[in-house]
Amino acid sequence: MKALVYEGPRQVTVKEMPDAQIEKPTDVLVKITTTNICGSDLHMYEGRTNMEAGRILGHENMGQVVEVGAAVDRVKKGDWVVLPFNIGCGFCTNCEKGLTGYCLTCNPGSAGAAYGFADMGPYSGGQAEYLRVPYGDFNCLVLPPDAKSRQKDYVMLSDIFPTGWHATRLAGLMPGESIVIYGAGPVGLMAAHSALIQGAAKVYIVDRHPDRLKLAKSIGAITIDDSKVSPVDFLMKETRDLGVDRGCECVGYQAHDAEGDEQPDMTMNSLIGSVKATGGIGVVGVFVPEDPQAEDPLQKKGKLALDFGKLWFKGQTVRTGQCNVKHYNRELCNLIHNERANPSFIVSHELDLDKAPEAYERFDKREMGWTKVILHPGN
Ligand code: NAD
Ligand code: ZN
Repeated sequence: MKALVYEGPRQVTVKEMPDAQIEKPTDVLVKITTTNICGSDLHMYEGRTNMEAGRILGHENMGQVVEVGAAVDRVKKGDWVVLPFNIGCGFCTNCEKGLTGYCLTCNPGSAGAAYGFADMGPYSGGQAEYLRVPYGDFNCLVLPPDAKSRQKDYVMLSDIFPTGWHATRLAGLMPGESIVIYGAGPVGLMAAHSALIQGAAKVYIVDRHPDRLKLAKSIGAITIDDSKVSPVDFLMKETRDLGVDRGCECVGYQAHDAEGDEQPDMTMNSLIGSVKATGGIGVVGVFVPEDPQAEDPLQKKGKLALDFGKLWFKGQTVRTGQCNVKHYNRELCNLIHNERANPSFIVSHELDLDKAPEAYERFDKREMGWTKVILHPGN
């Protein structure tokens, strides 16, 4: 089968790989029709992880079931399915509680399992013609009859729509409240979309890419260009020095300061400054543990210089972590099906899998207009 393979830092190629197949009776085999490039793929692409060369990338996947293992009885051949990026067993003590991002069976002792990801188990990614889905009955969300014609929306259920939603839930957003989102990448835009659906009174979003800010504005968010103004000063002025009710971190350790230099502390300190006393902060942007051996200076750093005193004095709550996609998936699917959510508004490109290497390069450079790339391996 054709697949997008990681070869080394900023080197990916499309080539023939052994066909994905059923390996265990609980597996499901999916023919991938739609698969996205994610900001999280860039952690591997940029060589910031210990990803081995030769692995297939891709954790935002949907398609049609072509084969089921002998022990699979809910999912059927021909079903249209979307695959949450977290792979869970469904029966460990974390999965039982809905914490599928921390499955103890699929990647014991680590931060859960995922397709095509460094440090998250040996599972192949879905930027390929076929994908093996472990514990298929648990890990496939079977989609409604409009799945085929609305793939651009439903594929976002694999990761970024639930992740954006998760950011707002971690922040504790209530209807009628205000919220600021740092980062107008795909995840931040999904957080803004989620906040508006949940009835936020005012949604502010911070970034410096005009195309991304324009998209945020088009859905009704108030945009703040941090290359022109200090977001904290802007928000304090807007709220008569009280701060906004909630805040979301949708950038991660690759945050930049206003001059464009990498500054991982930046967004968390800005959030502490922007959010009101007793407000909530949800952090879905990825931060990495300190690793003194790492070659990447950001991974060496790991620890942030937080103004913890300010956080403490303001009595703010910070909640963090990976999204447990399954926890939200079914309800968010209903919102899409009933046209209450349309996460596809962020899609900028739909390309054949062959075009993936170029798409990685341009998305990685945050080139103007490259907001979210969908790949179609079936073409
Ligand atoms: P992205 O890199 O495309 O977007 C990040 C955006 O943040 C960019 O537009 C960039 O200009 C902006 N930015 C940089 N510094 C900033 C600053 N100081 N203030 C405001 N904005 C700033 O990535 P994405 O796909 O949107 O993903 C965002 C983060 O979410 C990544 O760390 C990704 O790995 C993570 N993620 C987490 C989960 C989870 O389960 N928690 C799931 C998916 C993605
Ligand atoms: Zn993703």
